[in-house]
Amino acid sequence: MKTIYVDNAATTAMSDSAIKAMTPYLKEVYGNPSSLHTVGQVAKEALENARARIAKCLNCEPREIYFTSGGSEADNQSIRSAAVNGARKSKKHIISTAFEHHAVLHTLKKLEKEGFEVTYLDVHSNGIVTAKQVEEVISPDTALVTIMYANNEVGTIQPIREIGEVCKKHGVVFHTDAVQAVGHIPVDVKADNIDMLALSAHKFHGPKGVGVLYCKRGIPLNTFIEGGAQERGRRAGTENIGGIVSMAQALCDACENMTANAKKQIKLRDALIDGLLKIPHSKLNGDGKNRLPNNVNISFEGIEGEGLLLHLDARGICASSGSACTSGSLDPSHVLLSLGLPHEVAHGSLRLSLSEYNTEEDVKAILKAVPEVVAYLRNMSPVWEDLETGKKQHLI
Ligand SMILES: *Cc1c(COP(=O)(O)O)cnc(C)c1O
Repeated sequence: MKTIYVDNAATTAMSDSAIKAMTPYLKEVYGNPSSLHTVGQVAKEALENARARIAKCLNCEPREIYFTSGGSEADNQSIRSAAVNGARKSKKHIISTAFEHHAVLHTLKKLEKEGFEVTYLDVHSNGIVTAKQVEEVISPDTALVTIMYANNEVGTIQPIREIGEVCKKHGVVFHTDAVQAVGHIPVDVKADNIDMLALSAHKFHGPKGVGVLYCKRGIPLNTFIEGGAQERGRRAGTENIGGIVSMAQALCDACENMTANAKKQIKLRDALIDGLLKIPHSKLNGDGKNRLPNNVNISFEGIEGEGLLLHLDARGICASSGSACTSGSLDPSHVLLSLGLPHEVAHGSLRLSLSEYNTEEDVKAILKAVPEVVAYLRNMSPVWEDLETGKKQHLI
């Protein structure tokens, strides 16, 4: 049975090009960039070359790029650093949203315990927050605004440029978790008024365990991991050279082919949305237009997302019901709840996240499998029976 992988928001397959770029650094070029000898200096050169390539993709300077172990670490370090530096100036207020990734939300929860006050903006039912909402709550006490570029579950793209402008006007540091956006839609840290940004290689066909923290020159960045002087003293530890070189290659590939890849995925995405919405009592989550080229998120009333996933998996289709981080818990996704979905509807959700490796055949197979599985599960569901007999009201 052929595997149809449509869980690219959780992680992607590495590209051949990214693997090829990495291989020499696992074998021949094994030096430590901190060593003064030739073997070390060759590695150092590769490291700085990767930094320059990534800086070019984001439109920043190489010295504004700090390598990390991934998106989570970059989010943690940026937020904590901005909070602590704000507190030095007696600013202990942070603005964020209710539908951030847990790398952001759990960091903020911890800061709340340490005495910071966090305003979580309500997300509109279309999965978008506005710059106006930010402006309404920003105050002289605000140390940081952290709002994700694109949501990992419902794929909605936030008005980052406008939010950045509001932050700039009020002199507040602006951080964005751009893990789902970078490599998929254009991200320009200068034009978008971004002070700090997190990205992760494994979301655009690079390796797992490596990412970037962009920090604009002049914005203080505290050390998160103490030790050697790597990454200009902000992040100790011998660099993951193979991963970093590979990430740079994957990002350059993604940016070079972005328009073509997006066009291809939007076609598949819209075919999936149109096809799946033909299922009675189904609903698209997130905005119809303002969403990532690769994201489909649909709720089906009267079923459990987990059941749907297991049956799809048995047919070779790898999808998700929400964020991979919450699977294993039976609570509905905090993202879908933040959009105002009732628990019952949030429970029956399916996320399909595409990559440029998906094909029209994949879409065809999914559009055959999902309606069959939904019908099968509804047939067995007491909740569905209550809905059909009118004992309970249909919500969608
Ligand atoms: C995947 C993801 C992360 C975490 O990145 P890791 O590199 O896996 O730590 C953070 N934020 C968002 C939006 C993500 O999708």
